[in-house]
Amino acid sequence: MRTTIERRDLGPRDVLIEISYAGICHSDIHTVRGEWGAVPYPLTVGHEIVGHVTEVGADVTRHAVGDRVGVGCMVNSCRECANCRAGQEQYCLQGNVGTYASVDRDGTVTQGGYSTHVVVDEDFVLRVPHAIPHEAVAPLLCAGITTYSPLAHWKAGPGTKVAVVGMGGLGHMAVKIAVAMGAEVTVLSQTLGKKDDGLRFGAEDYQATSDPATFEALANTFDLIINTVSASIDVGAYLGLLRLDGTMVNVGAPPEPLPVRVFSLFNNRRSFAGSSIGGIAETQRMLEFCAEHGIAPEVEVVDADAVNDAYERVLSSDVRYRFVIDIDSLR
Ligand SMILES: [Zn+2]
Ligand SMILES: [Zn+2]
Repeated sequence: MRTTIERRDLGPRDVLIEISYAGICHSDIHTVRGEWGAVPYPLTVGHEIVGHVTEVGADVTRHAVGDRVGVGCMVNSCRECANCRAGQEQYCLQGNVGTYASVDRDGTVTQGGYSTHVVVDEDFVLRVPHAIPHEAVAPLLCAGITTYSPLAHWKAGPGTKVAVVGMGGLGHMAVKIAVAMGAEVTVLSQTLGKKDDGLRFGAEDYQATSDPATFEALANTFDLIINTVSASIDVGAYLGLLRLDGTMVNVGAPPEPLPVRVFSLFNNRRSFAGSSIGGIAETQRMLEFCAEHGIAPEVEVVDADAVNDAYERVLSSDVRYRFVIDIDSLR
């Protein structure tokens, strides 16, 4: 449904962005369907945003009119807590201000990127390197940083073996980034339907999780497993794939708890972890990394009128690999 939303007046440290493209993230669907709790309707979602600066506040120093910029999953944080001071604003102890469905500093509910313009504090606006194609930038701001951050934190690189569970929007970025970091990457997907793509993105191996033999063949193999699936999985079966001191990191978020047998953590001193997006400085590093390594998401551009159909296709895993909305179709 199309509607008109108000953006706040430009404050001295605000940037006005004319949006070009907004990515469709699974979180948008969880949110609008009320699967992650009550929704402050009316709500515009979208937290993968790219566009150009059209106006800046009087005190803005980091961005100028005409700059190509991006906005991801958060638009502010307290900036004072230990986590914010450590550059980990996504873990702000006061709770970061989400790009949509959060209460902004002026008391209004934040509204996301499926819209023509957005006003954001300059500190939460990212600079986009020239090398990244315009329509492919947006998904980096959620899917890209969500997978880059744990890969960097757990030191994926030469000599490490990384498994990526799920080959969707997050999964395909995890593969490309881990490969660029120098890791040896295996994709674990329900079927072999996207195997050719996985190998093209640089994975060395691609196995079906629907085949129990996969879990026997790959037992005690990986240093790091990035689980991008947002449905329930048999955690114990995946933990069995970790070698000594290996870690399984969850970046997908199933609504229900995942049961873990502690004994499967004792073996090989394994860790079961979670990770949420990344800090602003780290997100900037991710963009530079992707530009440097020639990495971009695979996108399918849709008009605003096709969003509901796109949601259905995301839910049936029928997207290769991220939808982005052409915001010009809203104008
Ligand atoms: Zn997202
Ligand atoms: Zn904070």
